Amino acid sequence: MRGFAVLCLLLTACAASDIRVPDEHVVAGSRAKGRGVEVCVLMQERWPRARFEGVAELSFARWDYGIASVLVKHPDGLVVIDPAFGRDVVRDLARAPMLFRLAMGPTRLKRPLRDVMEEAGLDPEAVTVALPTHVHWDHVGALGDLPNARVLLPRAELEWANTLKGYLDGGAMPHHLARAKERLRLYEFDGPARDGFPSSFDVFNDGSIVAVPLPGHTPGHTAFLVKLVDGRSALFVGDASWAMRGVEAPVHKLIPLDHDHAQTGESLGLLHALWQHRKDVLVIPAHDAAAHDQLPSCVPPPAPGTVTR
Ligand SMILES: [Zn+2]
Repeated sequence: MRGFAVLCLLLTACAASDIRVPDEHVVAGSRAKGRGVEVCVLMQERWPRARFEGVAELSFARWDYGIASVLVKHPDGLVVIDPAFGRDVVRDLARAPMLFRLAMGPTRLKRPLRDVMEEAGLDPEAVTVALPTHVHWDHVGALGDLPNARVLLPRAELEWANTLKGYLDGGAMPHHLARAKERLRLYEFDGPARDGFPSSFDVFNDGSIVAVPLPGHTPGHTAFLVKLVDGRSALFVGDASWAMRGVEAPVHKLIPLDHDHAQTGESLGLLHALWQHRKDVLVIPAHDAAAHDQLPSCVPPPAPGTVTR
């Protein structure tokens, strides 16, 4: 037990020591004047885990774990950031190795994106753009259920995805992308630097949704800066950190599952500076349900007096 504690302390020290946090001026406000768009959350799984499962801190504090997609109601069409679980999520996991299944938790808690959209009164066929933060299985699993969505990926992520083989490789299930092969569209970060990010890609060319590089977890891992109608912005940071605590500390994940550890450290440092100095930007890790609670749910709450099971 003492050995375990020492190992955890060592991991914790290593996990934090290589993160460099940039100065305030680096994350100064952007000049972009995007129109605000309505955003809501499509939560597909939620349950409490211990903090040490998410970040390298020896803590049993609660981590409000979740897997969610985000719907953006853009005037040019519906957009889904990180289409998470497909209709086949149970079958997807059944074929994965036991350790992977154990880490992902009970399948009975996972709901396909399509089901959650239908509960919210939304038509999956009306989604015209899908924006994955990266191609891991829990961020592109529902691409096959959004048949009319163009799938936008940065070059580095698509090139990496093309090297993946087998059923489960590097956290990705290549058959998910294969289902959307005809709808994949490549983009480059050829837009200006902003908010501390070295470059950008303006998805609709109106400043409402801007992709920015946030590499490390995967080679082309991306964050999306979305202008909200209240004037603030939401920054969806995918799996740069699974939990908000990783941004706040800042600290790495306990288990070194990132493609490039040093690059992930740089991304975490930048996110920490944004969180510290830009109160107008909501930083939202993909697997932190409490962070998503800052935005409305797409599913209306049950009417008072309704019995739910
Ligand atoms: Zn993930």
